[in-house]
Amino acid sequence: MAEKFDIAVIGGGIAGISAAARLSKHAKVGLFEQEDFIAHHSSSRSAAVFISDYGNDDVCELNLITFDELQSKYPNILKQRGLMSLEKDGEIDQFTNHSNSLGLSKISLNEAKDKAPIINLQFVKQASWRDDVYDIDTDLLIQTLRKECLKNGVQILTNHKVKKLERVNKNWILNSQFQSDTLINAGGAWADKIAQLASLKPKKIQPYKRSMARVEIDTDHEINNLPVLFGSDDSWYAKPDAGSMIVSPADVSPCEPHDAWADDEDIALGIYNFESMVEPKVEKLTSNFADEYQQIVNLTGMPTVPTIKYENEYFVSGRDYGNPQQLINILQTFKSSEYDDSRRVLERIKTLNFHINTAFGRLDQLLRKIETKINTDGNESTD
Ligand SMILES: Cc1cc2nc3c(=O)[nH]c(=O)nc-3n(C[C@H](O)[C@H](O)[C@H](O)COP(=O)(O)OP(=O)(O)OC[C@H]3O[C@@H](n4cnc5c(N)ncnc54)[C@H](O)[C@@H]3O)c2cc1C
Repeated sequence: MAEKFDIAVIGGGIAGISAAARLSKHAKVGLFEQEDFIAHHSSSRSAAVFISDYGNDDVCELNLITFDELQSKYPNILKQRGLMSLEKDGEIDQFTNHSNSLGLSKISLNEAKDKAPIINLQFVKQASWRDDVYDIDTDLLIQTLRKECLKNGVQILTNHKVKKLERVNKNWILNSQFQSDTLINAGGAWADKIAQLASLKPKKIQPYKRSMARVEIDTDHEINNLPVLFGSDDSWYAKPDAGSMIVSPADVSPCEPHDAWADDEDIALGIYNFESMVEPKVEKLTSNFADEYQQIVNLTGMPTVPTIKYENEYFVSGRDYGNPQQLINILQTFKSSEYDDSRRVLERIKTLNFHINTAFGRLDQLLRKIETKINTDGNESTD
């Protein structure tokens, strides 16, 4: 047995890293994260809005404790931003319900325009507001907790997917290699999968996908101090983030746990709904928070259909399937196989290689077309 811990935390998102940091003062802790780095999934892709009474009773209780702890110990992590809900013509009931559910009070349209000069009063019919809504500096929070972990001797084991959990003599054995008295399941969307590995009854946790895009908007107004803006029909929300805006279609699509990417249609709808309530137009989509897909797009300059990851296998449109139905057929008969990290890296390289080849093929075609056009134009002018 390589190592023995008092506590093994599975999952290096905000839940896992904060549990590990707190417990590390009292126990020997190992933190297991399947990805190359901590906070790879939801914890680095959120809108980072803090509302103390948002969520179920347990979450709200935790929120209140967290709020006091953050304010007293980490004063730079929460920054007040405020939240505004906006009603479009004809959505009076939705607006009332939305405002009530978020604890907002109605404000005049003039006040709304003062607080958020980009809103378009031609379309916004009512507005409501709440002051005590905060931005979370998630990056600072995660790095602060990581440092706390390292200072207290937590072993942060990235690239360590927990694939096997056994109970032997009141100890947990992880991947036949690590031993721990106690196990903390902080697997986020994967929590039930981990429960199954441990032969425990799943909690029936249903993961949902929520999309987000970073966009640049065409405005002379200062955007950094804008509040969080919500369409009261829950069809979009937006807030400033690091000099640009992030816009979400507020989608909640049930899904299997996976490395999520944003679907183009969801993003397009969110941007459309956002644009219908504000004056500026969206100029450019700069990111849609889907790491691997985005890296490939950045490297090749090609907007392509994203790589689909299913049970540790990668499917690339064009390379592995020609149309959605073919993919559905493949997935329906899919037999899962466990690949090690080197195979995963190889798959990413193969994907990248495939896209680069396609990009070069297209570039070659384009150059030939330009060459032909130059030759034709040249011949015409000498005729
Ligand atoms: C677009 C979007 C917007 C959001 N906006 C907000 C917001 O404004 N405010 C807010 O409070 N919340 C928001 N959220 C929700 C918030 O981001 C999540 O609730 C939070 O990040 C969950 O953290 P977590 O640690 O539970 O899960 P995660 O961050 O998903 O961490 C779980 C970790 O477990 C790892 N793992 C899973 N299985 C294994 C295994 N077998 N072995 C090893 N590691 C494993 C995963 O790789 C992952 O890193 C948003 C989420 C999204 C997607």
